[in-house]
Amino acid sequence: MTRVYLDHNATTPPRPEALEAALPFLAERSGNPSSASLEGSGAREAVEEGRERLAALLHARPDEIVFTSGGTESDNLAIRGVLESPAPRGAHLIITGVEHPAVREAALHAERLGVRLTVLRVTSEGLIDPAQVEEAIAPDTVLVSAMFANNETGVFFPVETIGALCRERGVLFHTDAVQALAKVPIDVSALPIDLLSLSGHKMGAFQGTGALWVRRGVAIARQMDGGGQERRRRAGTENVGGIVALGAAARVAEEEMEKRPPEIAALRDRLWRGIREAIPDARLNGHPLRRLPNTLSVAFPGAAGESVLVALDLEGIAVSAGSACASGSVEPSPVLRAMGLDDAVARSTIRLSLGWNSTGADVDRALETIPRVVARVREGAAAVSAA
Ligand code: PLP
Repeated sequence: MTRVYLDHNATTPPRPEALEAALPFLAERSGNPSSASLEGSGAREAVEEGRERLAALLHARPDEIVFTSGGTESDNLAIRGVLESPAPRGAHLIITGVEHPAVREAALHAERLGVRLTVLRVTSEGLIDPAQVEEAIAPDTVLVSAMFANNETGVFFPVETIGALCRERGVLFHTDAVQALAKVPIDVSALPIDLLSLSGHKMGAFQGTGALWVRRGVAIARQMDGGGQERRRRAGTENVGGIVALGAAARVAEEEMEKRPPEIAALRDRLWRGIREAIPDARLNGHPLRRLPNTLSVAFPGAAGESVLVALDLEGIAVSAGSACASGSVEPSPVLRAMGLDDAVARSTIRLSLGWNSTGADVDRALETIPRVVARVREGAAAVSAA
């Protein structure tokens, strides 16, 4: 049975271009970029080319890119790195109530060490009112961190407005763009953002790769001590193959940016229309328009999300219930809770996320299967409660 993969927000398969570009650097062209040998200088060139390609996708300068081991490290480096930077600053941090655990936990860690933390509320559609940010900024505020787009609902935050408020008040602004980069255009040269996190495996490169973009002039304290790599901002031998793959994935994303995201949005919209026709009480979580082109967070009242996930998986369709990063836990998703959805809705939610290799045939299969599976799960739940 061919699988239908609708879990791209958890991880998206590597682009063939990324695999092909990386392979030589994992084999016969392997070398340490810090070595003076021919192999070393070849690896150094490859890393710098990857940096240039990634910078081009972001409209950034190559020297502003710090390669990391992924989105989690980038978020930690941004938050801890700014708070611990040697410049004399205050000690107030602002985040939102729907950040990924990588931001949330880094912020809570900082709070335990004495930083004052404000967590902003979101609306029932997962949006944020910039006036709240304005109110929350105080004379001792160092950093605001608000994600570009949410991993569970796909909802966009108004990063341009939030960043502009931060600029006015002399506060640094970090955004976790892990889910947004390569799905929507992001031009850091035109946006009031100071730091931006990205992850390789959400954009067609490899797991365990990523980067933090740090606007020139913004100081961060490095979190990994060791060698002088990444302009002394992140020690450790570079993941040469992973960086080459990131660069190749960035190039393909840039080439396809005008054409592919609208195609994916059309597939996603057809999927949602089909689901709603077959299951009229299905409900879309999050703002219906201000969201990523690829994501659907859907609640099927009376059908546990975990049960729908397992039943779909057995039928060859991969989806997530709530957030993949929290899977294994039966707690309702903190994101949906923060939006004020009641636990029953949160528990009956699945996330469908399309990606670069999704097809119309995938949508057809999903539409044939989901209504049947949801009906079966609902019948099972009704039978249990009647017993
Ligand atoms: N930030 C967001 C919004 C994410 O969705 C994820 C992964 O799901 C991460 C950060 C963590 O990225 P990584 O898996 O590369 O550590």
